[in-house]
Amino acid sequence: MNVNNLMADLERKHPGESEYLQAVREVLESVEEVYNEHPEFEKAKIVERMVEPDRIITFRVTWVDDSGEIQTNIGYRVQFNSAIGPYKGGLRFHSAVNPSMLKFLGFEQTFKNALTTLPMGGAKGGSDFSPKGKSDAEIMRFCQAFMLELWKNIGPDTDVPAGDVGVGGREIGYLYGMYKKLAREYNTGVLTGKGITWGGSLIRPEATGFGALYFVQHMLHQAGKSIEGKTVALSGFGNVAWGAATKATELGAKVIAISGPDGVIYNPNGMTPEKIDYMLELRASNRDIVAPFAERFPDAQFIAGKKAWSIKCDIALPCAFQNELNGDDAKELLANGTWCAAEVSNMGCTPEAIAEFQRAGILFAPGKAVNAGGVATSGLEMTQNAQHLSWSAEEVDNKLHYIMSQIHEACVRYGEQPDGCINYVKGANIAGFMKVAHAMLEQGII
Ligand code: GLU
Repeated sequence: MNVNNLMADLERKHPGESEYLQAVREVLESVEEVYNEHPEFEKAKIVERMVEPDRIITFRVTWVDDSGEIQTNIGYRVQFNSAIGPYKGGLRFHSAVNPSMLKFLGFEQTFKNALTTLPMGGAKGGSDFSPKGKSDAEIMRFCQAFMLELWKNIGPDTDVPAGDVGVGGREIGYLYGMYKKLAREYNTGVLTGKGITWGGSLIRPEATGFGALYFVQHMLHQAGKSIEGKTVALSGFGNVAWGAATKATELGAKVIAISGPDGVIYNPNGMTPEKIDYMLELRASNRDIVAPFAERFPDAQFIAGKKAWSIKCDIALPCAFQNELNGDDAKELLANGTWCAAEVSNMGCTPEAIAEFQRAGILFAPGKAVNAGGVATSGLEMTQNAQHLSWSAEEVDNKLHYIMSQIHEACVRYGEQPDGCINYVKGANIAGFMKVAHAMLEQGII
């Protein structure tokens, strides 16, 4: 494999799709050495095939807003890779959604899902629809119009969408309602992240954040450290940040920052159950701001226009969006003594930020390993649906914990360096890649 030649070819096929190209480059650079030890991969042109989505479905979504105006958005489903299972991955509703973003997310999802140990292929979808400022009725009408187009392309053994940024339990409910009406069958296995009374799994809402903290715990343990008493800055205030804040607090860490597009909340006394609950209220308001947190809790301070990375902390956890922690942010964190960073959002750090962390030799782990607990618990939801049973919260949490320890172990197996340090980026990429590559090889040229 020649990474530069492959990338030049990909840039020609996908001009200007910087996020997608960034995600592919990271994986190719990580796996290059191992790949070249397998001439059978080269012969079957595994990477050339793996970097292209199986197919992309694009559709128009037209709906009527509360003032009677007709709105048109674009909907997508990128079915990336089905070597190890049906397509699986979230739907993102955000104004910045475009094919490049969904290709990068679908590509990442393929490796992440492979890491979970469960049989799930990779996919991603969504729309440039922004839930910000929309009423509940508008969100429902949009979800219904979106599903009107998507429903023929999904199914429990075909493609199983779930939530992502802008798509939570409420949206999954509206999407499922319309699916059920169109398909004329009660097929719960078609979506994950469902409500608890109609086929959802306990712990699914918490799973991404809980899983991330279990992974961080393993990482720290591996390095002879503990999370207890450490300060944590996290970005975002949505479902993922909420789960991470809950588990970090439960494990004895102090969550001293959360953030939104409007600025950061400096929370020197850490989280309380009331503060954690309030994060959900803030998100449900659809206003996309964190400032009201400081009005509600006077021991916290709102700093307008600043990121979570301006707060001095031991552990930095990007939990909101891709590329939300850049090279300058990494320098600021390092200057303030941060010694661990883990991406909870997909590709939360820019390549420059990762290079800074790796140069400084601090603990760093990538999203596809750290946040895999969300989709892993979706996989557990699929199993429960297929078997018509529901596990207790404790059962699901134990399984999630076990899966995260397996993912950590795989990262260590493939990422251990001669000096004993773990390169988690390399470890996660190689572990995920090997599984998908072998499956593709065994299934022939398709
Ligand atoms: N959107 C989440 C992710 O990035 C969850 C996907 C799922 O549960 O299918 O992994």
